[in-house]
Amino acid sequence: MLKLAFCKQPDLKQWFVRNEVNLFRYRFNKMSSKGKIRFFELSKFNLESIEKGEITGELEANLNDCSNITTASAKTWYRIPWTQVGRLVTRRSIFIDEGKAYVPEEDLIEFVVGKFRSECNRWLAGLAKKFDVMMENEQERLVPILKSFGNTIADADFSSTEGRLTINSIETMRKTSLPPCIRQLLDALQVDNKLKHDGRVHLWAFFKAAGMPLEDALKFTFTRMTAYANPEKEFKYNVRHVYGKEGGGKGVGAYGCSTKIKALPVEGQYQGCPFKHQRNLKQQLRNWGVKEVDIDKIKKKADDGHYQVACNQFFKSTHKDKEEKLDLITILHPNNFFDQSFDWNTGEHKLLKAEDTAKSEAMETSTYEPAWETTLPMSQAEKESQSQKEFEQDDFMEE
Ligand code: SF4
Repeated sequence: MLKLAFCKQPDLKQWFVRNEVNLFRYRFNKMSSKGKIRFFELSKFNLESIEKGEITGELEANLNDCSNITTASAKTWYRIPWTQVGRLVTRRSIFIDEGKAYVPEEDLIEFVVGKFRSECNRWLAGLAKKFDVMMENEQERLVPILKSFGNTIADADFSSTEGRLTINSIETMRKTSLPPCIRQLLDALQVDNKLKHDGRVHLWAFFKAAGMPLEDALKFTFTRMTAYANPEKEFKYNVRHVYGKEGGGKGVGAYGCSTKIKALPVEGQYQGCPFKHQRNLKQQLRNWGVKEVDIDKIKKKADDGHYQVACNQFFKSTHKDKEEKLDLITILHPNNFFDQSFDWNTGEHKLLKAEDTAKSEAMETSTYEPAWETTLPMSQAEKESQSQKEFEQDDFMEE
């Protein structure tokens, strides 16, 4: 069911795969050595192990150098095509010769995770192709269930209601509710009074999805992009085009996290994700009012490549109250950040409302029967403890 709900949109697909991969990694790390060996046998990976006697002389020196160790010959090594251990290659912690990476046993997880990631992508791509046909006769049965996944439904476009963001509210929202990637664009605009092409389009597309009226977006552009000789003449058509009022199309959809994370902004461009691209992230977080105690945690997540997790922590750090509920928030898209923040700050967030509903039900029934057991989502700690119990029941787990 989750695969169906997440298979259509690239952003949702990537978010789903990332979380499946994290879960797989966690479960794999929990396996006993015996379990891992059995897993490799069942998976039929046909790994090419390297004979101990081969690891001598120059090869041994290269393996020691790349792994920063002095005991390469004491380890078990495997030869794997380098394209299948991308993460190790990116870390530059691996020796490659003739297209083959030399992977020590303890790093085999990167190979396994890579395989798992490809499989996940393959399932989802297959489902996406069949989705429309599969749902043809499911409008009453499955489609409503998929819609119950909130704004992660298959055709989610993350659009807010018209007028949620306006030229009058943008300065307040900038401090309270706009996602870091959009704050970054606005910060740059404030300093330079201009943005390069990609930054402008990302900003206008965000405005449109955040419900900013076209007139406000035009006014904002003309009054803020003043480094250009005639912003009205230069950008009126472009803003209207993004809003779908020119060019005969539907306009430009708001850019998602994966597009921003994958962007390669050069000097003077700001359309990326700050958790990936911001060189001085700590100072930037301070400027945005993140509590000192949270800055290292966010930076660590960003350094480890968990950009959306870092963004979740940013959200948690910059929103008040009900910490256990903030733990349950997941950011899927910059406009989803904005909507969730707006709802949170106005008390309209579904997690807050779920609590109110549960409380009022308990009060209504308390005169004649015990309070209902609520079905609120589990806290992070509860989820982890439950997952732990489930994992421990797994065949491959240590006794
Ligand atoms: S994770 Fe997504 S919403 Fe958060 S800053 Fe990066 S691109 Fe924006």
